[in-house]
Amino acid sequence: MIRPILALTLITALVGCGGGKPSSNLQSMSRGAAAMAVPVSGVVSSKSAKQLFGNEHSASAQRAEPFGSYAKGCAAGNVQLPETGATWQAMRLSRNRNWGQPTTIDFIQDLSRKAAQHPGWAGLYVGDISQPKGGPMLTGHASHQIGLDADIWMLPPTTLSRSRAEREDISSISMQRAKGAYVNSDWTRAHHEIIKAAASDPRVARIFIFPGAKVQMCNDEKGERSWLGKVRPWYGHHFHFHVRLACPPGASGCVNQTPPPAGDGCADAQSWVNNILNPPPAKPRDPDAPKPKPKRELTLNDLPGQCSGVLASR
Ligand SMILES: [Zn+2]
Repeated sequence: MIRPILALTLITALVGCGGGKPSSNLQSMSRGAAAMAVPVSGVVSSKSAKQLFGNEHSASAQRAEPFGSYAKGCAAGNVQLPETGATWQAMRLSRNRNWGQPTTIDFIQDLSRKAAQHPGWAGLYVGDISQPKGGPMLTGHASHQIGLDADIWMLPPTTLSRSRAEREDISSISMQRAKGAYVNSDWTRAHHEIIKAAASDPRVARIFIFPGAKVQMCNDEKGERSWLGKVRPWYGHHFHFHVRLACPPGASGCVNQTPPPAGDGCADAQSWVNNILNPPPAKPRDPDAPKPKPKRELTLNDLPGQCSGVLASR
């Protein structure tokens, strides 16, 4: 299953390939060997990790397991979300980011079935999940590296028969008004219910969404509120919401984020909104402060050791 890394440098030179066939098997938990570190030459280990992972077109033939943390890691045994299902379509297929850990793909399909119960929603349009082997990407996203993050479009799908070309061209819609302090008139109760269903799922650790939407849901929720704690206000995230799953049970190489603080987090979201509406004065710059270090690009060396084995396995 695991070939020497020598082949790797040749393979990363290949481009093209695209979406490919849906792997459709969710049995990868039992498929292949467990991932382990393979020896890597100094040249490869110092190579840009996004170049290595961004040019991989298929998953590793290993037991599914995320390695590392959401913004510094990789994913063994990812599976592909089929491009179209009864209640979903994967968007922007040219990016080849409709891959994730089996638990993520299951979760998305489950959530899409719940979404399809709402009037005007044929299901879900699914944005970026991960690359076939996870890892850093050539464009966009600091996270989405271990196959446990997924972006769900805010645009209610009216049809699930969009062509590949349409899925490149159409855009989601923004839900925000006043720079994210409020939702706009496209926000519906169905958005609330779908995000509530996602946040109530025990597989989910966090959901990122713009502050105005969180406050709206805080105000509208008259029942059970504990799910609101997982809904975290964050920058951007008005064309899609971002679902982050917790490390699956037994995934010892996967690093969970610290759980969100107890409570519904509504006061915190309100203070984000207040800061948008009345921005605090900018702090004066300290002329003696050291210049912030430019962020160094991740290399294979920065990722967990198992990621070399993930790259080499096919
Ligand atoms: Zn995202």
